[in-house]
Amino acid sequence: MTSPVRVRFAPSPTGHLHVGHVRTALYNFLLARGRGGAYVLRIEDTDTERSTTESRRGIIEALDWLGLEWDEGPEKGGPYAPYLQSGRYEEFRAAARRLWDEGHAYPCFCTTEELDAEREEARHEGEAYVYSGRCRDLDRDEVERRLADGEPYALRFRVPPGRTSWVEPTSRGMVAFENAGLGDFVIWRRPSIDGGHPLYNFTVAVDDIAMRITHVLRGDDHISNTPRQVLIYHALGAEPPSFVHLPMILGPDRQKLSKRHGATALDEFRRQGYLPEGLVNYLALLGWSEGEDRELYSLAELIESFSLERLNKTAAVFDYDKCRHINGEQLKALPAEERARRALPYLRGAGAVPAELEPDTDGWPRLVEIIEQIADRVKLLSEYTFYVRPFYHAPTEYEEKAVKKVLGKSGARERLERGRAALAEADGFTHDALESAFRELAAELEVGLGKLIQPLRVALTGDRVGIGLFETAELLGREAALERIEHCLSFMDSHDLGA
Ligand code: GLU
Repeated sequence: MTSPVRVRFAPSPTGHLHVGHVRTALYNFLLARGRGGAYVLRIEDTDTERSTTESRRGIIEALDWLGLEWDEGPEKGGPYAPYLQSGRYEEFRAAARRLWDEGHAYPCFCTTEELDAEREEARHEGEAYVYSGRCRDLDRDEVERRLADGEPYALRFRVPPGRTSWVEPTSRGMVAFENAGLGDFVIWRRPSIDGGHPLYNFTVAVDDIAMRITHVLRGDDHISNTPRQVLIYHALGAEPPSFVHLPMILGPDRQKLSKRHGATALDEFRRQGYLPEGLVNYLALLGWSEGEDRELYSLAELIESFSLERLNKTAAVFDYDKCRHINGEQLKALPAEERARRALPYLRGAGAVPAELEPDTDGWPRLVEIIEQIADRVKLLSEYTFYVRPFYHAPTEYEEKAVKKVLGKSGARERLERGRAALAEADGFTHDALESAFRELAAELEVGLGKLIQPLRVALTGDRVGIGLFETAELLGREAALERIEHCLSFMDSHDLGA
C-alpha cells in the first residue's frame, strides 16, 4: 500500500492553456485519483503584470471541460487555502523574514546597472552568468545603515557550497546540480520585502510546503529550478516532495512544440472539434504507456492504469494524426444521441442546421438519425458540418470536381432522369425500397449501380462525398429529393452538361 499523495497543478494565469500544461494537469490528476490522494489546483498569480482574470477563468473552464475536477482549489476551497497564490503574501513575507533572520538570505543592494554590467562581462567571457556575491558578506553595520537609509534592496538566497540532488521515482532516477552554478538567487524583488514581489522558486516552495504537497509533477523545463527549490525546503526545515519531471513535448520536426506545428492551445483543439475524452486519451499516451499496444482508454481506465514507473524517458513527439485518430475512436464510442448533442454547437456555429434546433425538440430525432448514418466518417465534431449541411440546405452550387467528373460525363443526364423516375415511383421511400428499385434500374440500363448513384448523390448533396445515397434520400424525403434533382437537371441544361 502506497501512502496517499497530495499533488497540485499550478498554472500561471498568463495566457492560454497549452497541451503541455494539460498533460501535466492530467498526470497529476491520475496520480491523485489512482492513489486515493488529493488533487489541488493552485493559481500562481503573483506576477501581477502578466496574470489576468480572463486567463484564470479560461484555465478553470478548461479543466472543467476536460473532467479533471480538483479536490481543493479556487471555487472549492479546502483545508490549505488560499489557492490563489496572491492570497499568501503575508506567509511569503514571514518565510522570507525567517530565511533572512536565520542567515539563509541577505539583502542585495546591487543596482540594475551593476547587475547588467556583471551579466555583460560574463557574456563577454563566454561564461554562464552567476551573481558575483558582491553583497553576500557585507559588514553587518553597513547593512543596517543602508537599510536605515531606505536604500532599495532585493533579497537573495545564500546558496551553500556543495551539491543539491534528488531522486525521481521514475527512470530518471537521481538528478544533481553543483550549487556553485546556481548563484545566490533573488527570492524577493526590489525595493524591499515590504514592497516588491516574491519570486517563483521561493513562492512555489513555500506554497508546496503549506499545502503539504507530496509529489511535484511538471514539465522538465522546470528541472533547473528544482535545486533552488530544494535548497529553500531545506532552509525552511521542510522535507522536499518527490519531484517528477515530464519529458518535453516536441513537434514532428523534434523542435519544441509550437504554433508552427499546429494547434497548441487547448482552446484551439476544442474549436477544431476535439472531445475531452479524445484529448485526455491522447495526452495520456504522450509520455506514458502501459507497455502494451493498447491505445484506447477512458479517464476511469487511465486512473486504473497510470503509474509513475511507466513514464517515458524521452521527449514525446506530438503526432496530430494519431491525436485525431484517437479522437475519432472516442467519438465512435459515444451513442449517436450524445454525438449529436456534442456536435450541435459546431453545426449551429457553421449554420449547417437551423439556429433554433435544440435537443429534444421536434427536429431532434432527425438530426440524431443523420448523425447515426454518418457513423465513423468523422473524427472531429466540426467535421459533421459537411455531412449534415445538405440535409438542411439544398445545394445551391455543385462541387467543382463533381461537376467535371460526374455531371459532365456523357449519359449523366439520362441516368439522373431515370433515377428521378425511380425515386418518384418507388414503392415506399425507404432505404430498402430505394435500393431494390435502383438495382433493377441498373440491371435494365446495364450500368453499374455506382454509375447510377453518382449523379443522384451530386444532385441531392452537391458533392460526391457523403453518406449512403439511399439513406440520404430517405432522410430527405421524396418531395425534397425530387426538387433537388429538378434543380440539378436545369443546372446541367444551362451548363450543357451530361448529354
Ligand atoms: N506556475 C508555474 C508554471 O506554470 C508552475 C510550475 C510548477 O509546477 O512548479 O510553469
